[in-house]
Amino acid sequence: MQLLMALAGNPNAGKTTLFNQLTGARQHVGNYPGITVDHKEGILTHQNRKITLTDLPGTYSMTAYSAEELVTRDYLVNERPQVVINIVDASNLERNLYLSCQLLELGVPLVIALNMMDVAKDRGIEIKAEMLANLLQVPVIPIIARSGSGKKELLDACVHLATEETHWHPRDISYGKDLDTTLAELVAKITETSLLIETYPARYTAIKYLENDDQILEKGRKSDPVTAQLLEELVNKASAHTQKTLDVFPEAIIADHRYGYIKSILRQGVVSHKFDTDRLYTSDKIDKVLTNRLVGPVIMLLILFAVYQFTFSWSDIPVTWLENAFGWLGDQVENTLPDGLLKSMIISGVIDGVGGVLGFVPLIMFMFFSIAILEDSGYLARVAFMMDRIFRIFGLHGSSVMPFIVSGGIAGGCAVPGVMATRTLRSPKERMATLLTVPFMNCGAKLPVLALLIGAFFSEKKAMYMFLFTLLSWVVALVAAKFLRSTVLRGAPTPFVMELPPYRFPTLRGLLIHTWERTYQYIKKAGTVILGISILLWALMTFPALPENKAALFEQQRQAVMHDSSVEAPSEKINLINNAESKATLKNSIAGKFGSSLEPVTKLAGFDWRTNIALIGGFAAKEVIVSTLGTAYSMGQVDTEKSESLGQRLKKDKNWNKVVAVAALVFIMFYAPCLVTVVCIAKESSWKWAAFSMIFNTIFAFSMAVFVYQVGMFFNLG
Ligand code: GDP
Ligand code: MG
Repeated sequence: MQLLMALAGNPNAGKTTLFNQLTGARQHVGNYPGITVDHKEGILTHQNRKITLTDLPGTYSMTAYSAEELVTRDYLVNERPQVVINIVDASNLERNLYLSCQLLELGVPLVIALNMMDVAKDRGIEIKAEMLANLLQVPVIPIIARSGSGKKELLDACVHLATEETHWHPRDISYGKDLDTTLAELVAKITETSLLIETYPARYTAIKYLENDDQILEKGRKSDPVTAQLLEELVNKASAHTQKTLDVFPEAIIADHRYGYIKSILRQGVVSHKFDTDRLYTSDKIDKVLTNRLVGPVIMLLILFAVYQFTFSWSDIPVTWLENAFGWLGDQVENTLPDGLLKSMIISGVIDGVGGVLGFVPLIMFMFFSIAILEDSGYLARVAFMMDRIFRIFGLHGSSVMPFIVSGGIAGGCAVPGVMATRTLRSPKERMATLLTVPFMNCGAKLPVLALLIGAFFSEKKAMYMFLFTLLSWVVALVAAKFLRSTVLRGAPTPFVMELPPYRFPTLRGLLIHTWERTYQYIKKAGTVILGISILLWALMTFPALPENKAALFEQQRQAVMHDSSVEAPSEKINLINNAESKATLKNSIAGKFGSSLEPVTKLAGFDWRTNIALIGGFAAKEVIVSTLGTAYSMGQVDTEKSESLGQRLKKDKNWNKVVAVAALVFIMFYAPCLVTVVCIAKESSWKWAAFSMIFNTIFAFSMAVFVYQVGMFFNLG
């Protein structure tokens, strides 16, 4: 008979390690429908029984605060696995048992895998597993997931439990006199009306009512409004009472009693410390320095800077390889296919599009690798801890700092890995706010545009302007986050205990697995959609083709050059003619016409049709802005062309001046994120939010640009 088992535990308790040990390569990773929480499933055989094992997301608790916690408990009550393995970090027993306690309250058939026995031993912690098993009345099997020791005993215990257990046994824990009385009333009412009884044990529902759990309250109201109202009244009464007498909400009392329950078990001699004098474990000692009020932030900046250097400088080499490979591929197509639309589409649509996606892969891998080091070692939690106070002011979370920095917070990152990095955030609203504001950072693709415009119009104080624009990106991102959190993403900050797990030396295998899992998801997700959109953009900038008589004119010029032997450097001349033709094609294309038709509006910010096309192209990738400006502003005249850079040409152009430059910079920094980023936002949240980010950012950026331009022109600063 087939068995269904699930693996639950705190983040970093070793779930993935155990999962890999048990299932080897036979696993399948997907997402839970509609949300970006990994759903991992594997198959194994033990004692001739086929077992399907699900790796549930890591959680500290089973409230309704985060997607992970909801997924975990929904899975347990809906799929009803025959055995739940609760993996527990033995070196951190007390905190880890908090989740175990809630699993017991739910009543699932539980086996506790007491992991990291090696770490506990090194720290001089001795745990009497049998005694713990007796007190908790569930099997407790000591294991070392990393080496696989204890694996067989664990599976034996699971199969044994699966063969005898058929019912759930919710554990009764006392929550003090007041709440116990209310609980009894609630349970009586729930049993009497069979409210949600087919999904949750009555006592569990009652506890969730007392904890004011959104999901259960909602379900209760849907299934039986009358009973639900009665229950809610009872709870409100109890809540008012505890607030009056103890000045706390029932959920706080419940949490306290759970900890009390755990403490009372552990106090009976389950845990003994061998070196009592050495209570300051290495971890605490390291923390004395790393989270020190003065030194901590300095070290943090250094470490973040190192991550940044590693991600963006070291990945240069593979990025260049990939660029060369795609350049080579483009050349091959250029040389083999006949001129024409197909060729142009394959080069500008397919190769540039796919190349654009794959070009990010080394960057993403390097970034995830660095994050994996910080995460697996436990340092990321310290960064979040230190930044939390500042970020909270803006409705964000300490963990938002990493995505911001990766996206270009220090100048020259990339919003794609930034968006992906928001996965380390556990609370949904803070995560959304971070996701939507990281594209405001100055990514590497915006840098050439900044360099071009600042170089042309503010050449005297380049560094200062660069710094000011970086500062501006932070201010705007944080203020925008605050704005989102007080409007569309309104809601109290998610109560989230800042956990500081002990430092641990990451393993290369673990790092590689974490890196690859995330990178692969990026390739799979971004790859498919982008190809289509990139071809679409190519079409917009190519069609309709030049009218025949105009195209013929260019062809005549080319023929004339080729057949006139007196012309010097004919290939350069041909290039110029080709340039002029591209420019004409561009102006005539849908994108070009669109750019022209927008001119009356964009004039408010000082942008002409040529700038508009560049900005539209910049939606595909911000790098495109410079190259498109180059095409659109090429003079088409042989003599002046050669000697002038694009910057000089812009400076001379009557449509451009300092004020226009600043307005354009502001617009480029804050308008719709590039295509790849938008697709990533969509895949990480929904297309609705991706559309929101395009529209919101563009309107916002345009208002800023208009403001800058109008004020600047009013004071004649151009
Ligand atoms: P998850 O977040 O629960 O999936 O945890 P992981 O499986 O990613 O493990 C977190 C870290 O703990 C990794 O660096 C593992 O190599 C390490 N780890 C897991 N199990 C053990 C163990 O039994 N002993 C030791 N020393 N390290 C372990
Ligand atoms: Mg994991």
